[in-house]
Amino acid sequence: MVDYHIHTAHSIDASGTVSGYCSRAIEIGLREVCFTNHCELDPQRDDSFIVFDGRREPFSRNELLRLQEEILAARDRFKRHGLDVKFGIEVGYFTGIEPVLEEILRGAEIDFVIGAIHCLDHICIDSSRECGQYFATHCAEEYLADYFNAVAGLVRSRMFDSVAHLDVFKKYGIDHYGKDIHRIPRDMVEGILQMMRKNGTALELNTAGMRFMNEFYPAESLMKMARDCGLELITIGSDSHRPEDLGKDLTKAIDYLGSFGFDAVCTYTRRTPTKLSIP
Ligand SMILES: [Zn+2]
Ligand SMILES: [Zn+2]
Repeated sequence: MVDYHIHTAHSIDASGTVSGYCSRAIEIGLREVCFTNHCELDPQRDDSFIVFDGRREPFSRNELLRLQEEILAARDRFKRHGLDVKFGIEVGYFTGIEPVLEEILRGAEIDFVIGAIHCLDHICIDSSRECGQYFATHCAEEYLADYFNAVAGLVRSRMFDSVAHLDVFKKYGIDHYGKDIHRIPRDMVEGILQMMRKNGTALELNTAGMRFMNEFYPAESLMKMARDCGLELITIGSDSHRPEDLGKDLTKAIDYLGSFGFDAVCTYTRRTPTKLSIP
C-alpha cells in the first residue's frame, strides 16, 4: 500500500516529523509514502508559510530545497527498511499562481505535485473559521460554479500531477446549503474530467472525508463520472495531518476504487506516474 498525501509539522496546520511518519509507515506495512506539505502562495492571505523548527518562513524556492534535503535524507535512511520515500507538495491553486510556482519548483527534485482548491475569493472554504464569510454572500449554485471554475483553471494550467479532494466543497457546504450542495454542474465537471484524461492529470482518492463525514473524496457520483469519462490515473492518500492518521482507510479505499472498475493507483518519480495494480 502507498500513501500519497501526508502533512508533517512543516505545514502550519499539522504535526509529526518526517522520520516519525516513516517509522509509523513501516509499522503499518506501507511500502511507499509521499510527503505533500502545503504550499500556499496567495499574497492576499496570511498562510503562505512553511514551518522549520517551530518558526514560520515565507514559502520560497530556498525553503522548498530545505524541505527536499530533509526528505531525500529520509529516503536514504529508510530505504534499507523497505520504505520508498517520495518528495511532493500540495499546492493551493488560484488564478495567477503559475509563474510564482514555476519559479519555486525550478530545479527541485520533486516527485509529485498535487493541486487543490482551498480558497475562493481568497477565503478558505476548507476552514470552519473562514468558510461562513464566503457562504454568507454566495448561493449554492454560485459556490459550485466558482469552485469548479477554479478546478478547471487548475487542470488547464497543466502544472499538477493530481487533483486533491475533488468534492471538498461539501465538507462545510453541506451544513450551510443542505441538499443543494449535491447539485453539481455536471456538464462543467464532465468537461474537467475529460480535460484531466487528456492532460494525464490524476484524480485523487482522499480518505480524509471518511474522518470528517464518513464519505470518501470524491463521493460515488463523481467517481462514476470519472470512470465514464475514461479517466485512468488515480492517486490515493490519507491527507494525514498527524502520524496517527497515516494510511487510514486505504484498504477500504482500494475496495471502493475496485467497485467502480479502477484497477490501479499511481506512484510518481520525478513527476512521472507508474501504475500499481490493485488486487
Ligand atoms: Zn487540501
Ligand atoms: Zn492536504
